Amino acid sequence: MSEPKNEVDVIVIGGGAVGTSAAYHLSKGGKKVVLCEKGNLAGGASGRCGGMVVHCYGRELNIDKTDQRLMYTRANTQIMKEYAESFEIDFEFRQVGCLDIAITEQEFEELENLVDIQRSLGDEEIELLDKKQTLAVMPNLNAHLITGSRLRPSDGNLNPFKLTRAQALEASKLGAEIRTHAPVKEILLSNGAVQGVQLQDSVIEAPFVVNATNAWAGQLIPDLEIIPVRELAMVSECLPPLPPQPFEMLCLGDFAYGATQTASGNYNLGGPGPPKPPAYDYYDERIYPDEVFRVMSYIGVVFPGLAEVSVIRSWVGTFAFTPDGLPSIGPMPGYKGLVVIAGFTDGMSWAAISGKLAAEYICDGRTSLPIASLDPGRFIGRPKTHWPQPYDLTVCHDFLTGRFKP
Ligand SMILES: Cc1cc2nc3c(=O)[nH]c(=O)nc-3n(C[C@H](O)[C@H](O)[C@H](O)COP(=O)(O)OP(=O)(O)OC[C@H]3O[C@@H](n4cnc5c(N)ncnc54)[C@H](O)[C@@H]3O)c2cc1C
Repeated sequence: MSEPKNEVDVIVIGGGAVGTSAAYHLSKGGKKVVLCEKGNLAGGASGRCGGMVVHCYGRELNIDKTDQRLMYTRANTQIMKEYAESFEIDFEFRQVGCLDIAITEQEFEELENLVDIQRSLGDEEIELLDKKQTLAVMPNLNAHLITGSRLRPSDGNLNPFKLTRAQALEASKLGAEIRTHAPVKEILLSNGAVQGVQLQDSVIEAPFVVNATNAWAGQLIPDLEIIPVRELAMVSECLPPLPPQPFEMLCLGDFAYGATQTASGNYNLGGPGPPKPPAYDYYDERIYPDEVFRVMSYIGVVFPGLAEVSVIRSWVGTFAFTPDGLPSIGPMPGYKGLVVIAGFTDGMSWAAISGKLAAEYICDGRTSLPIASLDPGRFIGRPKTHWPQPYDLTVCHDFLTGRFKP
């Protein structure tokens, strides 16, 4: 008797929020799917992130990109709502709004411009709050310091670990096989067409492979221009109830966020650490005391009530950034059968829709939203981006918007 063939319709590489979304939507579309994750589900950025869902994250005053972001992130929210109605696992999606806090007058003007742009694109619900209105929403802010904020009531947060699990569970109910501790060594090609993947000691054959490894995506496809960005997260001791809205802010030029307060009162906060040395390893998972101290010290200035709280645990994770700040979604030019969904900085606002778009492309050959501008091959042939060294998320954003000051 011959050996049974290890053969499926689609192999998804990566078991984060994005990969499990692809596995779910592909299975729903009738495909036989295997998902290969090198560690545990949500072992990458998805199990380490704040879980904020922000439709128009960042401060880039670019009307086309804002328009695109809104189109995808609104569609993402719509799918999350459908998930919340039908999925077995409650992934704690709460649309409680998110505050983008301005410290300086100049930042407040930037937010004002951003709100104008969003409104001109039909984002009716976006609000610009002055100082008094901001303090009414978040009374624990330093009234002497802040100038105002931007609030979008349908932003919010979710439990990213549970979202990943929830999608994986629904995918398995539809027949998907989820293989953990199954690192993909190589995507196998013949005459430019995908044949399958090479695992440690076996091969899986398939005509389609989806690369959903985000920060690691370029390791499997060298033509893909994606850089890894490392960020710190912390959880505080139990605190009395705080305002439910997550926040993000730039403080002394550094990005910081406060995401979710758990039912037991622990608060999840984070931001990039201090500048890194040249040739730094952005996949470094060690924690350095000075980075925890630095992020907490500026959060403590903006939220005086948080200045004395104890951080009981901290960790880091690595996510991705691209040369135009938008993710890559779609077929990889030059590789027949290879689909990329990677390059996510704010993956919670994209996970559901990107998996759905990849599935539509593979199952139907067309997508319900246009994906041409997210073409994973759009940087090929252009001079490679020389990111400032060292960099972090704030530096990457400033670099793209021309605000970077070495
Ligand atoms: C501290 C921190 C805070 C964040 N806060 C937020 C937030 O509040 N809101 C938000 O939207 N985003 C946030 N992010 C970003 C967000 O986490 C990511 O954008 C998102 O998780 C990307 O999901 P993903 O599934 O694409 O990637 P990941 O979750 O990183 O999944 C990729 C998976 O691929 C696996 N993999 C890699 N190589 C291979 C291989 N060769 N074979 C098999 N498997 C492989 C990895 O192990 C990993 O599990 C934060 C990130 C961090 C680190």
